[in-house]
Amino acid sequence: MSESWTPLRLLSWTQGFFAQKSVDAPRLTAEVLLSHALSCDRVRLYLDFDKPLGDPELARYRDLVRRRADGEPTAYLVGKKEFYGRPFAVDARVLVPRPETELVLEAALAALPDGGAALDLCTGSGILGVTLALERPGARVLATDVSGDALEVARANAAALGATVELTQGDLWDAVPPGARFDVIVSNPPYVPRGELDTLQREVRREPRLALDGGPDGADLLRRIVAGAPARLSPGGALVLEMHESHRELLPGLCREAGFDRAEARMDLAGLPRYTVA
Ligand code: GLN
Repeated sequence: MSESWTPLRLLSWTQGFFAQKSVDAPRLTAEVLLSHALSCDRVRLYLDFDKPLGDPELARYRDLVRRRADGEPTAYLVGKKEFYGRPFAVDARVLVPRPETELVLEAALAALPDGGAALDLCTGSGILGVTLALERPGARVLATDVSGDALEVARANAAALGATVELTQGDLWDAVPPGARFDVIVSNPPYVPRGELDTLQREVRREPRLALDGGPDGADLLRRIVAGAPARLSPGGALVLEMHESHRELLPGLCREAGFDRAEARMDLAGLPRYTVA
């Protein structure tokens, strides 16, 4: 081979390859994987654009490119995903944090006074509970998950980011001490209608089914959360739940039936109904 593999050549080759394999954001994905293989940031790729890679680096990069083209989520390959400006460690034990969940976080923050108490059910990688604790350092935060694997990831994230969060394992309300009261209860539970699970993007199908499967209409866990929330909220407290777009009428209705005086569905950045505040 006469020409050697420089960052610039690799990026343009991979961009074309990813586009052909229907990988989202082919150029950006190539940059993220190459900077991971080289343990540098993305800007460095362009500063060293014509510096040939060594064999071990090239081998590392090729492996990442092959696995990404095969449908592994980029966040699992690089082992992290940014949420609300902070890096969270993620792997196949937890759902990959989504940008729309930042709206859920902001609604929860708006209802959490400093010195208040918050509960994050189905915490997964810990993004909601950990970020609440970091943004409201005086607040008390409990985060729970049914999956011990997920809790290990959440615990590592809380430690790495310096957040004080209490983590307990259990099936929804089973993990919450009976007498505890919260100013905010937030959750991004599994909410995908079961019939849609097999039609999801191949990357999403690599994520834990437990983190996605919401039962026949997707609302099994949402119903159990709404039913238990009033007894665990302080007077004037708020419930903030991420949901599927098909829950736009259902979820606010369930909240009103459970005794909330106000409940409204709100939109995500794509203009789809994505969460309910009650
Ligand atoms: N709470 C986590 C998140 O928002 C996990 C959600 C889940 O596993 N359903 O990403």
